[in-house]
Amino acid sequence: MSTIVQKYGGTSVASIEKIRNVAKRVLEYHNQGIKVVVVLSAMAGQTDGLIQLAHEMTEQPDPRELDVLMATGEQLSVALFTMAIKSMGYDARSFLGFQVPIRTDDLHGRARIHDIETSGILKELDAGKIVAVAGFQGLDEKGNITTLGRGGSDTTAVALAAALRADLCEIFTDVEGVFTTDPNLCPKARKMDFISYDEMLEMASMGAKVLEIRSVEFAKKYSVPLHVRSTFTNGRGTMVIAETKDMERVLVSGVTYNKDEARVTITKVPDMPGIAAKIFHPIFRSGIVVDMIVQNTSSEDGRTDLTFTVPKTEFHKTMELVKDVARDIGAERVMGDENIAKVSIVGVGMRTHAGVAQRMFQTLAGENINIMMISTSEIKISCVIEEKYTELAVRELHKAFGLDDDQIQEES
Ligand code: ASP
Ligand code: MG
Repeated sequence: MSTIVQKYGGTSVASIEKIRNVAKRVLEYHNQGIKVVVVLSAMAGQTDGLIQLAHEMTEQPDPRELDVLMATGEQLSVALFTMAIKSMGYDARSFLGFQVPIRTDDLHGRARIHDIETSGILKELDAGKIVAVAGFQGLDEKGNITTLGRGGSDTTAVALAAALRADLCEIFTDVEGVFTTDPNLCPKARKMDFISYDEMLEMASMGAKVLEIRSVEFAKKYSVPLHVRSTFTNGRGTMVIAETKDMERVLVSGVTYNKDEARVTITKVPDMPGIAAKIFHPIFRSGIVVDMIVQNTSSEDGRTDLTFTVPKTEFHKTMELVKDVARDIGAERVMGDENIAKVSIVGVGMRTHAGVAQRMFQTLAGENINIMMISTSEIKISCVIEEKYTELAVRELHKAFGLDDDQIQEES
């Protein structure tokens, strides 16, 4: 007998009617003899609304209590869903994170899952019930409710699939699958049938909003096959799986962008051992994740410029921290820029094909777009550009790499 974990996102459960539809959909699987564990997000807009309430109460809500508040969104969804199933004459039971329990560390608002106790869920499944688990939430060692970070229900679903050794984890959302780029920005984006975990990781981390990145890390680590598909249609979505030989034939699989980062530059930094460690120490200690870092190698008069990017949400804090260090080490100036975007091309095919970077640079040059920073990995090339050129850059790169839906896919 197979086991499937299905996760339905906020738009899939946005109303009573929609929750009923999800229940019907789940019953189709159940009636085929499949054991179904359903992970639900909060109804669309709920989590935002709850956060807003908290901020109406106080400028800086207590992190523990904010988690208690945010976790109610998913509580609502699983309760209503379970009622729907029961009203249709079937048996189901809801679990909140702490009832499973899903154990996490104690980082409120961005907790990491440590382990999941499966016995309670398995018992209900064996009794023929449909199990509904609240996404996005867990329990720390001291018994506090934690949340996993925005979009965290995906991670709940994949982690559950891994823990239950489920045959498949299906992520039901409001789009048909993973696209070659953001269809809102580029009308010629195409749905992909398959994508490798690594490509998906690069896409997710750079703003492809379909899957939360941690869920993909989990899926890769535990080899959980993921099926990303639409709640509102019956079509096949995108399978996120381990890499196959076939995938390498395509040069670039997708184009992504990220407008959520800001740039910080420190000029005339003394060029000597230990300086980078000094500059980044307070930033890392504050838990701020630095993405790209560029430092000049040839320094004039023993001084060099250092530029890096951080999430926009951490920009002001980073500027403060960096200004302090800059003074300490005798650097010249700290400058910041929030109006930047990172556009990236992703593809496992890059490993075996040359000239991909050149084609990217030329495409941007052809549109007169200035490149401020470049970074590369084995399967990704990213350029930081002015934010206002994001759409243009994405569309042109999509075309330049033959991804437009009216272009014939050449096989090389
Ligand atoms: N409701 C949470 C959020 O909006 C978790 C999720 O939807 O995955 O971030
Ligand atoms: Mg979501």
